[in-house]
Formats: sequence, C-alpha cells, structure tokens
Amino acid sequence: MILYSTKNQHLKASLEEAVFRSLPPDNGLYMPEFIPKVSTEFLNKIENLTFNEIAFEVSKTLLSEDIPESDIRLIVERAFDFDAPIVPIEDKTYCLELFHGPSMAFKDFGARFMASLMSYFLVRSQKEIHILVATSGDTGGAVAQGFYNVPGINVTILYPSGKVSDIQEKQLTTLGGNVKALEVDGTFDDCQALVKQAFLDDELNQKYNLASANSINISRLIPQSFYYFRAYAQVKHVGLPVVFSVPSGNFGNLSAGLLAYRMGLPVSHFIATTNRNNVVPNYLDRGAYHPVPSVETISNAMDVGNPSNFVRMTRFFGDDWQQVKQDISGFWFDDEQTKTAMREVYDHTGYLMCPHTAVAYLGLKEYINLTKKEVAGVFLSTAHYAKFLNVVEDALGTNEVEIPTRLSDLLSKPKVATSISKHFGDFKAYLLS
Ligand SMILES: *Cc1c(COP(=O)(O)O)cnc(C)c1O
Repeated sequence: MILYSTKNQHLKASLEEAVFRSLPPDNGLYMPEFIPKVSTEFLNKIENLTFNEIAFEVSKTLLSEDIPESDIRLIVERAFDFDAPIVPIEDKTYCLELFHGPSMAFKDFGARFMASLMSYFLVRSQKEIHILVATSGDTGGAVAQGFYNVPGINVTILYPSGKVSDIQEKQLTTLGGNVKALEVDGTFDDCQALVKQAFLDDELNQKYNLASANSINISRLIPQSFYYFRAYAQVKHVGLPVVFSVPSGNFGNLSAGLLAYRMGLPVSHFIATTNRNNVVPNYLDRGAYHPVPSVETISNAMDVGNPSNFVRMTRFFGDDWQQVKQDISGFWFDDEQTKTAMREVYDHTGYLMCPHTAVAYLGLKEYINLTKKEVAGVFLSTAHYAKFLNVVEDALGTNEVEIPTRLSDLLSKPKVATSISKHFGDFKAYLLS
C-alpha cells in the first residue's frame, strides 16, 4: 500500500512509514493511493465468515504487498478476540454493537489493530518505541488496553486529574506492565501540551524512540472498515439495500465506512449523524465548510468543531460536494432529542443505548421518515451504555441501571498512577528516570 498526503499527492509513504509517523510532514492526512476491491467470491459467502475471517480477507486485500499472508493472519488474530454483533431493535432496524472489546467502545478496533501492526514491524526491525498519549477519556482507555503487553512498546498515558469518569480512570490506571498512567494536575489541553513538547525535546528523542497513537493514523482507520463488512454479512439475508447511520465527531468511523464502500461493499447510503456540533451536516446542506469551536453535549465523545478526518471523508469523493451528497446525508440532534430517544427505545424494546448510539438511531429514523425508503437500516453503537451511566440514568429517570460485571470488577481494582504537575520539567524528569 502506497499512501499520499492529502496536501500534496507527490508526498508518498510506505505503510510502515505512515504507521509510525501518523501524519505526513506537511500535516496533511495519509490516504491510500489506490483502493483495491474485495473479490465477488468473498462477498458471496461473507455471511458464513467470522469477524476474524472477514478482517483477514479485507486486510489481505489492502496489505498483501506489504506483509506476507501468514503474518497478516497473525496480526489479525492478535488484535481481535471480540466480535461486532448486530441486534435487531425494531422492524428492519439494527444496532451494530461495537463495544465488545476491552474498553467497551468502538475505538478498541482501531487501537488493537494499530498495536498489533506496530508490534509486527517493531519485532522485525528489533526496535522499541515509547508511545505518549494525552487523553480526555475514551481514547486513552482503548490505547491502554490495545497496547497492553504488546512486545516492543511502552506506553505513557497522561490524563487530567479529576476530569475523567471513574470508569475511564480505572481503565487507564489498573493495567500495569508496559502501561504507565500519569495523573496531571491540569486540564486536557495541559496534557496535550506536555506531549507536544516532549516530541520536540532533543534529549528525550535521543533516549527514546517516541511515537504517538494518533486517531488519524491509517492503521486505526483500516480495521474500522472490517465491521462494516461484518454488519453487511449479518443483514444480507434481509435482501434490502443497506444504510449505515454513524454517530460522528472526528469522522474517522464514517471515513472507514467509505473505505469499505470503495473496496466494493454494497452500501446504499451513509448517514452522518452528529449532536449540536453540526459542521458536517451543515456542509452537506450548503456545500460550505465552516469549522467552529465545539460545544458541550451529553454525547461528549462527539463534541468536535473541526473534525480531523473531514478532508479524508471528502477525498473519497474527489472533494466534490455533489458527489459527497449523493452518498451521505447529514442530520443533527440536541440533548433533549437524544434523551427522549434513549427513553423511548428503552420503554418500547428494553434496549439501552449510550447517548452517542441514540444520536445514530435518530439519524437513521430521520432518513427513513424523509425518504420513505425500504432499507435494512444499521445504526452504529459506539460505546456500551454503562460507560455513560449518569446520562443514561438521567434520561431514563432512574438510578437503578445495571452495570456489567466487567465494569464493576474494574471499579474495585486499585488505581496506580503517578501524580505530576503541568510543568514540562517534571514530565521530562519522570520520563528520564
Ligand atoms: C470517538 C467516539 C465517537 C466519534 O467517532 P469519530 O470516529 O471521531 O467520528 C463516537 N462515539 C464514541 C463513544 C466515541 O468514543
């Protein structure tokens, strides 16, 4: 796979370079120069395949020039021991549950595959890397769990003290081993500033091979295409055109759906659903893209005012608004609508949704109401409801929502974190010690 920068198509990189750099030197995004199609034979028998078999087939199609098939199989097996099941919610309406991985959110798919792929390259080159991540919550959990015990990789996670939920903090601080947590006396922005400064520091760069686990890394995008194939496999028998509603923030998830589509997955339409941070629905309406500062909502993993994957999303259509609009509709919903959906779906079906999932559900319903199309509608559930317990309890008007034992067990484990100030000198001294 050859990748190019969205800012300069002559600036190219190999897969390995793109994975370790995350970003091209001109700060564009890496895009595959050529997107190969999966075979018809694969799509014809896809309903009989497991998640890992599908992941292997899609990876092989994309990566076989870079990695031998037997190694691709090992990379996939090491990354995934969880599935992406479809649950019928209402007539022809299906929830794609993406929260069966270790941190119970869809970012596990990207983080686990990135870790597995990086480790493969590192073992071959006999290198070690040190990953630095600043997190405001969910990303850190997925990265921590994804890189836990992966050979050749050490991880330091910085999080703002008192500003992540109990569950999120425990996901970062109870692993041990190669994952170290730093509790920073400051904000998320302070954490991010510390990481940025570390990447610029000569002494640290001499001692360590520093890397980031950036969410726009191509190795996080690729594995997110697998579950679109897996979803299709599970609704194929319905015999209707398939539509995906994707709850979006930075639009990595939707971009991965577009990658699957360009590889030949039969998708009839995509729905880009957001909360009040609606720059992309506005772009789809009017053709103009105006990034703005983000506003806070109850679906806070989607509070993004200038989505980092926007350019990738439009590049799949040659940056042509008319083309984008043919395949993607955009809708947005506020917190009240989101809570109402959580309550109504629970009352009618007993199914509990996290606020992000509820936004996706609303987008699908809106699309079906407006177009009156008969489709197999799939909305993506990006996190387990128990990760957003306060919001769920508030929406349902109860405080008796059950949390799965995996999360309650986590809450009883002791936290291990090192407290540091927000001053770079302290952080550097910690890393050098
Ligand atoms: C990150 C996240 C999103 C947004 O995904 P993007 O790929 O950034 O669009 C949605 N829901 C949850 C729970 C998330 O953690």
